[in-house]
This record gives sequence, C-alpha cells and structure tokens, in this order.
Amino acid sequence: MLLDIPKEALSTHAVTDYANVGPSEVTCRNSPTGHTSVPQPAKSNPMSIWRAIMKKPRTAVRSCHQKQASGHEGREKQVLSSSQVKPSTPDGTMPKFPEAPAGLARRQKEVVLRDPVSPYHLFRDTAEVTVFRENLLSWYDREKRDLPWRRRAEGEVDPDRRAYAVWVSEVMLQQTQVATVIDYYTRWMQKWPTLQDLASASLEEVNQLWAGLGYYSRGRRLQEGAQKVVEELGGHVPHTAETLQKLLPGVGRYTAGAIASIAFGQATGVVDGNVVRVLCRVRAIGADSGSTFVSQQLWSLAQQLVDPARPGDFNQAAMELGATVCTPQHPRCSQCPVQSMCRAHQRVEREQLVASQSLPGSPDVEECAPSTGQCQLCAPPTEPWDQTLGVANFPRKASRRPPREECSATCVLEQPRALGGARILLVQRPKSGLLAGLWEFPSVTAEPSGQCQREALLRELQSWAGPLPATHLQHLGQVAHTFSHIKLTYQVYGLALEGQIPVTITPPGARWLTREEFHTAAVSTAMKKVFRVYEGQRPGTCKGSKRSQVSAPSTQRKPSPGQQVLDSFFRPHHPTDVSSLNSMAQ
Ligand code: SF4
Repeated sequence: MLLDIPKEALSTHAVTDYANVGPSEVTCRNSPTGHTSVPQPAKSNPMSIWRAIMKKPRTAVRSCHQKQASGHEGREKQVLSSSQVKPSTPDGTMPKFPEAPAGLARRQKEVVLRDPVSPYHLFRDTAEVTVFRENLLSWYDREKRDLPWRRRAEGEVDPDRRAYAVWVSEVMLQQTQVATVIDYYTRWMQKWPTLQDLASASLEEVNQLWAGLGYYSRGRRLQEGAQKVVEELGGHVPHTAETLQKLLPGVGRYTAGAIASIAFGQATGVVDGNVVRVLCRVRAIGADSGSTFVSQQLWSLAQQLVDPARPGDFNQAAMELGATVCTPQHPRCSQCPVQSMCRAHQRVEREQLVASQSLPGSPDVEECAPSTGQCQLCAPPTEPWDQTLGVANFPRKASRRPPREECSATCVLEQPRALGGARILLVQRPKSGLLAGLWEFPSVTAEPSGQCQREALLRELQSWAGPLPATHLQHLGQVAHTFSHIKLTYQVYGLALEGQIPVTITPPGARWLTREEFHTAAVSTAMKKVFRVYEGQRPGTCKGSKRSQVSAPSTQRKPSPGQQVLDSFFRPHHPTDVSSLNSMAQ
C-alpha cells in the first residue's frame, strides 16, 4: 500500500525525508484499499502542487491517515526533538538523513502527513537562502550594537572563557532587556571573570549580585553549571548544542545553540522571541507561534537559514533585527535588509492595493490558502487580517493564562535606636521554590479578606524577635508584584521597637540590617517595593525617632538598574528556553 506524495508539498522535514527514502517507500500500511496515490500535479511549480494537494487528493491522504491513526496514535503524535533536527547543508538546502533509522524516517513522514505545510511558508531554494544570509549579515556588519558581551567574546582567544562570556550574557538576557542587563553583566564579569571564579563563589554572593534582575534561579543555575564544568568536566565547556543542553543545568535549547554557535562556531540555528517575530513575518506564519508544531517549524527554518560560515554572527544578526528593526509594535520595514523577501510586507502591500482599487478580492499573486483552514501555519479563518496592524498581524499572540492571585502580609520590623544605627529585620526564604534563598521581611500568606492576618503576622514576627507590642503594628498600605505566574499582593505593615531593649540575639536565618546593607542585600524587587511603602508611610510610633534622621541611599531616590527592571520584567524581549524558564520563573 503506497502513498505517493510530491515532495514539494511536504513540510521541511517531509522534503528531507522524501528526498532520502524516495516516494516508493512512503507507505500507508493500514489502508483498506491498498495503494493510494495522489495524482502528480501537472506543473512542477511548488504552489501549483500545493494547491493540488489542498484539493481533493488531500482528502484521500487524511482519510488514509485517519484510519491509521487509531492503531498508531501514540507513535504518530511524536514530534521531532531538538536532537533530531539536523544541521542544514552549507548551500542552504535541507540535509539528507543517511544515518536516520527506518523507524525515524517513518515517524517523520507520518508527522508530516498530519501537519501539512504550504511551501509558501518555507524557503524553497538555495538562492533564496543565500540572499537572506547575505542581506542579513551585511546589515549586521554595518549596524550591530556595541555590547559588552560581544566585545568580550570577540576578543577572547580562550574558548572556555569565550563560552563563559556568552553563557552569562545569554542567561541574563532571558526575559530581560539589553539596557538592564549591561550593568549587571559588567559587574558580574568584574567580580567573576572566569568559570573558576564563579564556581568558588557563594550562593549568597550570587543572589546579592543578581538582586533586582528577576528570575533568580537563573543565577543559581549559572553557578551550578560553572561548578559542574570545573568539578566534573575538567574546566572545559562542552562544544556542541547537544552536549551543552545535556550536561549543563539551566541550559535549554536556545542557550545551548547560542553558546555553541557564537563561542564555538557550530552551525546550529536558534529561536528566541525576536527570531520568532522575524521568521513569522518573513514567512507570513499566522498560526499560534506558541504551539509545538509552529515552534518545530520555526526551529527548522532557523536551522535551514543559519550561515555555516558565520553561524554565531548570523544568529546574533537575526536577533538584532528583531530587537531593533522588526520590533513588536513599530517595525521599520523601510530599513529592513530582508524586506524584499518578507511575505508579511508583501501581504500589506497587496491588501493596500486591494483597498485602494476597491477590488472584491486579492489579485492573483502568490499567497497561501488561509481561507481554507487547511494550512497549519496560516492564521485560522476565524482570525481575519487586521488592516490596522499591518505586518504586526504576525506573529499571532497566543492568549496567555492570567497569573493566579495570591496575598501575603509582611512587616518591616525596625529597631530605630539599635547600636550603630537603625536596623530592620530580614529573614531568609527556603532553599527551594519561589525566590529561593533570598532575604525578605517576615511574612505570612493571607487570604485577601482574612480577618486573622494581623494576628498571624504578629506571631510570625515574635517567632523571630520575641515579645512585641501588638498595638504598635500598623497597616501601611499594599503593593502588588507580578511574578511570571503569580500576582502577589503584599499587605504592608510596620512596627518600630521604641523604648524597648534592643534585640541582640538573632536566630539562625534572620539578620538585622542597616538601610545601606538592605539595599545591597540579596532581596527581591518586591521587597524593595514593600520597603518603599514603609518609608513613605512611616508608622506613628516612629515619628521623631532617629530613623527619620537616617538618609536614604541614593538608589532609593533614583531607580537603580534593578528597580528599572520592574517595568520590563515580564515584557517579552529575549524569551528563550521557554520551557526551562517556566519551571524556574520567579
Ligand atoms: S520587512 Fe518589516 S515585517 Fe518584514 S522582516 Fe523586515 S521589518 Fe519585519
């Protein structure tokens, strides 16, 4: 039972697969009617072939495959893993898989049959890929930003030091803007210029330097990775994306590809949020870019496009284009080096032409078949073109689940007359979970309308500092902070120990800090927001205390880089290794 499918009608993987095994091996073993053949379209033009496939023969394919599905459901649902996506050949064509076992080849075919992709969304020949590379790289050579990690990586001859420089920058840039990262990166590399330096640092020091950058487990994982390289890998960073991802904690597919291509010259493509946007626009991919299928297609495109002669520069150029030209809201298409091959731009021009001529439909130019709902890379028919968005119709944003809401009561407990100046109590969070190991004001989880909040908070305070005057506990206000998956509202209380014997015995896990120490400690941005509420409200019991004479550090008046990150904390910028970030997001 054979199913002959023109290779041009298949997805990127399908073309590869078909080229490797030949049409006679594409089987549909469970078909009750025996050999099922899709008639070969008359023309060899890929769009003609695609349209032919999208018509009646496609029904035959689906029918055959649906019957097959019941018996092979589990196997058919498999998608290609990162390790299965092979590098492109130097000329930009997709590679063959001479080493692929027959089982893998069959799985690839079956995935393709379920997930057809129009060639409209692909790069179809070597010439197109070559032009894309050349245009992008020559633009990058002219326009690239001068960034400290680029300078360091370009000037470093030692491969492990170079990899470390790239690794730190890529981890910091996850979910964080370049402008924010520069200062953190500079301080980090001054403090720990080598993997060995980082491996010997304490987690407390790492958290302290990371404070304000968000997603705190990134710093911890980075240090764990450095320790692994030093203690188990002889001080040498793995050279390939596959081994980087496999051996280093916190290194996902994107980070591994970035390190391997930039530091070691491996021809491996990468996909971050900027690349998603660029590729979705250049190939008019309107399907949900967060879906597994679209993600696989984007990784395949990136792999096909990456320049084997300059893979690191190419990957950085693609990201740079997304960050500076093909931006989410106001893309500057007139300055774009790949405008001539951008399908989103072509679509805008076509729609404008149709509108200006009051034509009933699109002119006869190349496009996919979005109205059929058949192409899995087109926007669904229920989401029509929005004239006001222009190229920003791509990529389509997946609807995000709103963060769950939680409430916490927290208290700034202060000794205004402590020896050596006013001090505030900080306690350390558990070693795992949200904000692991960071310092915070004593807190209790609380229901938003909980009546026992005050009593519970007082008990928590007393467990750290002994008997306290309950009447001095004042509610000062509230402040909200959104973590990746939680919107946490803090009910902020204050209590000043006036006229009492200073607390000198500190239990393990607690510290009395001066204001200066607080502002440089490993505390989260949320705690700094809480402290600002406390400073702004000043409990009545503290009026006239010495605390009012303590000048606030300059960082309090002028937002530090860490505080600036608040506004951009969750703004998509360099979303990479999304799966790993989700698990460690804080
Ligand atoms: S032409 Fe416009 S939409 Fe297309 S890649 Fe360039 S900036 Fe993005």
